[in-house]
Amino acid sequence: MTATRTTWAARAATLSIEGRAFIGDEYCAASGGSHFACYSPIDGSLLTQVARCGAVEVELAVRIARLSFAGGDWACATPRERKAVLLRWAALIEAHNDELALLETLDAGKPITDTSEGDIPAVAYCLQWFAEAIDKLPDELIPSERDFLGMVTREPIGVVAAIVPWNYPLLMAAWKFAPALAAGNSLILKPSEKSPLTAIRVAELGRQAGLPAGVFQVLPGFGEVGQALAAHPDVDCLAFTGSGATGRRILHAAADSNLKRVWLELGGKSPNIVLADCPDLPRAAKAAAAAAAIYSNMGEVCSAGSRLLVQRSIQAELSELLRNELAEYQPGDPLNPSTRMGALIDQDHLQRVQGFVASGRREAELLGGGQVARAHSGGFYLEPTLFACADQRPRIAREEIFGPVLSIIPFDEPQDAVRLANASEFGLAAAVWSADFAQAHALSRQLRAGTVWINCYDELSDMNFPFGGYKQSGNGRDNSLHALEKYSELKTTIARLR
Ligand code: NAD
Repeated sequence: MTATRTTWAARAATLSIEGRAFIGDEYCAASGGSHFACYSPIDGSLLTQVARCGAVEVELAVRIARLSFAGGDWACATPRERKAVLLRWAALIEAHNDELALLETLDAGKPITDTSEGDIPAVAYCLQWFAEAIDKLPDELIPSERDFLGMVTREPIGVVAAIVPWNYPLLMAAWKFAPALAAGNSLILKPSEKSPLTAIRVAELGRQAGLPAGVFQVLPGFGEVGQALAAHPDVDCLAFTGSGATGRRILHAAADSNLKRVWLELGGKSPNIVLADCPDLPRAAKAAAAAAAIYSNMGEVCSAGSRLLVQRSIQAELSELLRNELAEYQPGDPLNPSTRMGALIDQDHLQRVQGFVASGRREAELLGGGQVARAHSGGFYLEPTLFACADQRPRIAREEIFGPVLSIIPFDEPQDAVRLANASEFGLAAAVWSADFAQAHALSRQLRAGTVWINCYDELSDMNFPFGGYKQSGNGRDNSLHALEKYSELKTTIARLR
C-alpha cells in the first residue's frame, strides 16, 4: 500500500528516537549528561534530546578507535570479510528504509519522497558499491630487475574522523564512511548538530551487521567536537564536508597538531550555461529548476546550479519557462508524498537566505517568489525564488546562498559565459546546453569545475563518478574508486630474491 501523509504522520507519532552517542559498541550519554535539544524544521517541535559530546568523548572515542585499529579485527580482515559485513549493513539499512527516511525528514525538513526513494536507498547503494569494490582491486607488481620483486600494496591509514553537514545528513556521511571502512580504517563520525539522528541510528545497524567494536563510532555535538577531532594528535585522517570557513579551521588545526591528512568537500556557486542553440529549452528550464537542485532539496545542495548563465537572445523565453516552474515547487508539508519542496534547516538559515533575498531585491529584478511560506506550521519555509540580474555583480549572483534562490545572468558570446563561469572562488560543478556538441565539449574543457554536464544537470550522479571540486570547492574526490585512495596508504615493498 502506498504511504500517505496520514500514514507517515502516524508512524512519526510512534517513532522511537535514539539521541545518545555511539562509543565503542554501545549507546551512551555524554559526560555529565550534557545534551542539546533537537527540533524539527517541519514545525519547530522537539524531537528529542541529543548527547552533547565534547573533549572527554573525543578522547575516549579516539582511544577506542586506535585500539580497534591496532587489534586488527577489521583492519586485517580480508577484503572479502569486510565486504560481507558491509553488505549486511546495507541490507539492514534497506530493511529500515522507511524508518530512516522518516527520521531524516523530521530532522532535516526534506520531503519524505526524497528521503524514502532517494537519500536512504543511495546510502545503502553507496555501502554496497564500496563493499563490492574492495575484493576486486588487485595491488601492483612493479616491473623490476630479475633478482628483485617490487610490490605496491594498499593499507588502511588508521583512525579516520568524518565531519559532515546537514543537507544530506546520512548520504554525505556514507560518502565518507563507506570507502573509509571498506579500506579497513576505524572511523569516528561527527554529524551536524542540526541533523544528527540518522547517523546515530545507523551505528546500531552497523553493530548488528557485525562491525567490530570501535570501528564505527558516532559523536553528536557542536563544532567543538569537530575542532577537537581536527586537532587530535592520534587522528590520522580527517574527511570533511561543509563550509569553507570551517574547512580553513580544520586545516589550521591539522597543521598545528600532527599534519593529519585532510580532505575537504566545500561549497559551490555552480554555473548552468544555456546557449541560444539549446536543443530543448523547456527541458533546460525544468532541469534548471529541479535537476540543478536549486529548488529541489530546498536549494540546500553544494552543486546547485545557482547561476543560470543565459545567452541574451533566449533570456526572455527561458525566464518565462522558469517562472512557470515555480508553481511546481511551492513549499508543502514534508510528510506529504506529493511535496517537492520542504523546510529549510532552521530559523537561522531561513533568516540568512532571506537576507540574500533582500539584497537581491535591491540589486536585481525579482521575477517570482521571495516570501516566507507556511509560517502557521511553526516550520521554516521559503518560496522558490527567481531573480534576473543585469550582470554578475549582485551578491546573490556571486555568493553561495544554499537556499531556493536562482539568479539569471545574461551573456552575449560563448566565451563570455566561460569567463563569467570561471570568475568564482568555487569550482564544484557546471553545465553547458547546446545542440552543437563540439562547441559544448570545447566549452566544458575550459570550465574549472569538478563535474560538467552537457545538455543535462546532475544526471547519472552515480557512485562510478568521482565528485568534488576545483579551487575553493575543496580537494580530493568522494565516490568512485578514487575515493578509496583518500583512505589508504600505499606501501612500496622491494625484495632482493637472491
Ligand atoms: P559547516 O561548515 O557550518 O558545518 C559542517 C560540520 O562542521 C558540522 O558538523 C559542524 O558541527 C562542524 N564544525 C563546525 N565548526 C567546526 C570546527 N571549528 N571544526 C570542525 N568542525 C566544525 O557547514 P554546514 O552549514 O553544515 O553545511 C553547509 C556547507 O556545506 C555549504 O557550504 C555546502 O556547500 C557544503 N557542502 C558541500 C558538499 C560537497 O560535497 N562539496 C556537500 C554538502 C554540503
